[in-house]
Amino acid sequence: MAKQLGFYFNASACTACKACQVACQDKNNLSAAMRWRRVVSYGGGSWVPDPQNAGLMLPNNVFVYSISSACYHCVNPLCAEVCPAAAISKKDNGLVLINQEQCIGCRYCEWACPYGAPAYDQARAVMTKCTGCDDLVAQGKNPVCVDACVMRAIEFGDIEQLRAKYGHVDSIEPLPEAKYTGPAVVITPHKHSQASGKGTGKILNLPEEV
Ligand code: SF4
Ligand code: SF4
Repeated sequence: MAKQLGFYFNASACTACKACQVACQDKNNLSAAMRWRRVVSYGGGSWVPDPQNAGLMLPNNVFVYSISSACYHCVNPLCAEVCPAAAISKKDNGLVLINQEQCIGCRYCEWACPYGAPAYDQARAVMTKCTGCDDLVAQGKNPVCVDACVMRAIEFGDIEQLRAKYGHVDSIEPLPEAKYTGPAVVITPHKHSQASGKGTGKILNLPEEV
């Protein structure tokens, strides 16, 4: 198999501090509303009356955990497949990059990507997204999200090496199942992580946060 760089994410360690998201915005001069990496909290369950104590409530399968996600530089990038301008390509190291000189701003890639990774730049009328910090990676450095995480919940590298180290989980809610695009990601689930497609919870963030 050709080299494929990718991300590791530890959902059991993430505290939803958003340092990764902000570091990405800072490095790439993104506005607060433009997110190439986003942190969302996913939760569910309910509260029921305590039969022993009138007026008190008990948790009923209540859970919450958070994920930090970005473009997963997929093995089968649907974004590239639908691009009518051939502006998206997969590099030898597996990173999927947009050539903004070629982009015609049609936004097809944004609609096709099941991860919501492409982010449209209204002012320049071009699509943007996570580059895997290819400039830093070329210098042997980490993407900034990796180094910004105080919990060391994100790693980056050869996906086969990451899978050898961390296993083969590549989707948990609210991410889609991996079968659609083959994302280059491996995840350590949180103890309450729900299987993708189960629909047991919902994203708890405000719409303007995600
Ligand atoms: S996550 Fe989306 S934008 Fe990134 S390579 Fe996969 S399909 Fe393309
Ligand atoms: S918005 Fe740009 S990169 Fe995305 S599909 Fe259209 S031309 Fe291609």
